[in-house]
Amino acid sequence: MEATMNAMSDTPEPDLPGWIFRQAVEQSALAISITDDRAHILYANPAFHRVTGYGTEEVLHSNESILSYKVTPRLVYDTMWARLQRQQAWNGRLVNRRKDGSRYLAELTITPVLNDQGETTHYLGMHRDVTEVHRLERQVQNQKTIIESVVDAAPVAIVLLDGDDRVILDNHEYKKLLGDMGTEPAARLLRVIRERMGASFERARQEARDIPGQEIRWETPAGESRWLNCSGTWFEEQDASADAFYEPQPRRFLLLVIQEITTYKQQEEAIRTYALRALLGERERVASVREALSGALFQLEGPVNQLAAALTMMERKPVTEETAPLLSTLDSALRSSREAIETLRACIPNETLEPEQPVDLNALLADVLRIVTPELLAAGIIVEWQPSVDLPKTQGRPHELASLFRQLLANAIQAIVESRGRRREIRLVSQLRDDCVEVLVEDSGPGIPEEWQLKVFQPFFTTKGAEQQHLGMGLTLAQDVVARHGGVMEVDPDYRDGARIRVQLPLPARGVP
Ligand code: FAD
Repeated sequence: MEATMNAMSDTPEPDLPGWIFRQAVEQSALAISITDDRAHILYANPAFHRVTGYGTEEVLHSNESILSYKVTPRLVYDTMWARLQRQQAWNGRLVNRRKDGSRYLAELTITPVLNDQGETTHYLGMHRDVTEVHRLERQVQNQKTIIESVVDAAPVAIVLLDGDDRVILDNHEYKKLLGDMGTEPAARLLRVIRERMGASFERARQEARDIPGQEIRWETPAGESRWLNCSGTWFEEQDASADAFYEPQPRRFLLLVIQEITTYKQQEEAIRTYALRALLGERERVASVREALSGALFQLEGPVNQLAAALTMMERKPVTEETAPLLSTLDSALRSSREAIETLRACIPNETLEPEQPVDLNALLADVLRIVTPELLAAGIIVEWQPSVDLPKTQGRPHELASLFRQLLANAIQAIVESRGRRREIRLVSQLRDDCVEVLVEDSGPGIPEEWQLKVFQPFFTTKGAEQQHLGMGLTLAQDVVARHGGVMEVDPDYRDGARIRVQLPLPARGVP
């Protein structure tokens, strides 16, 4: 055996006695058999007996096909023999039958044994029972199939990313999202999440802390707004490579679960718009009562002051029998007028001051636009809304600011409607200036003549006819709101295509989120 096995090799004869080779084969845990060139068994070791149930003597001169269960496809044997014919070793799995009829899966290696002339004289067969290994492999495979089917059938998009943000696994919904978005959704969403979380993203990764649901908005190529809620879970897997066998090297993966929440957001938006509309309606009602009473007071104070002046003049003169009753009447008229004025002043409803808070002007302007949409549609006005993408939050009172912009838009709509011009456009712009955020409300109406550009902010100034019963307090109140926020509002004197109102609100001190 020693000489045969070394026939094709250039390695020197090992300095070992022949019995060691025999004992090594005898004591091997692998089932080893040696056959002639027609696969008739000439030798089988004790492990062969343990695996197959056939005693060594029993199988002598039998063909190896004694182990064949006949379910192994013909092609497998043909491939095997073709390789052996080319004097190449063959390795594969066969379904074998033991002596007692039970089956097992054999992992078999057959090596041709050549003589000095290079002819195949024998075959060396080595096999082991891998039924259990196969069962476990198949179980893992089945579980993988089940998990993939469940993940695929999930109504949310699921994607698994490796440490380099490469997609390892995704489901049907994720593929649909990919089709809608055009670019890899995970990369896009992760970019937003990383920006939002800053340094805490890396900390969450290292500590394997979950990423809480993030609501992310994206615009489809068709210009629609869609909302996604994206949450993440980190988990570790041990590196399966040989290098990591004794030194486990954990690999971190991120499982992103992405849920479409557009309908929910639209409903939420509709509820918010409805509530804001009601609130602004109430504020406007209060403002108009204040406006009417202030107007009435303004109108009343003039004659009363004249009365007071007349009385003072009369009081300076000596009192006669004739003037005494007149003085008394005037005095009581003045007193009752003043009381009436005070009663009227007391009737002016108080403005409710909201607490200041960080305000997302873009969101607020979008809400206001939604509120005036019916008026815009009725007037056939096209709105060009240009929000700045990097607008920081301002500090302010959101409802006051909403009523300010609502007023400016209402003015713009009215100017366009009254001008009956062919261009019916409003442009609303938000932008970041050096030390403030700026909102421009432009309309294609007749514009505000230069001599009125300051007057329009004065109380009771109106460009509308008296028949419209308008007290001209809208821009005054709007101006008050801007002033209370530490900002400025002006009519752009250089704008020629209509009117452009510029509102600048200061940026908050650092530290406001
Ligand atoms: P066939 O494949 O049709 O072959 C009929 C006979 O001719 C068999 O005796 C076969 O051995 C022989 N034969 C076929 N083609 C050639 C060829 N090109 N050159 C020489 N002889 C050929 N099979 C198993 O199912 N389980 C085993 O564990 C197993 N162990 C083997 C171990 C060794 C070392 C060798 C050499 C073969 C082994 N075989 C084994 C293959 C086995 O010999 C049969 O080829 C196989 O079982 C198919 O059986 P069959 O009755 O369909 O015979």
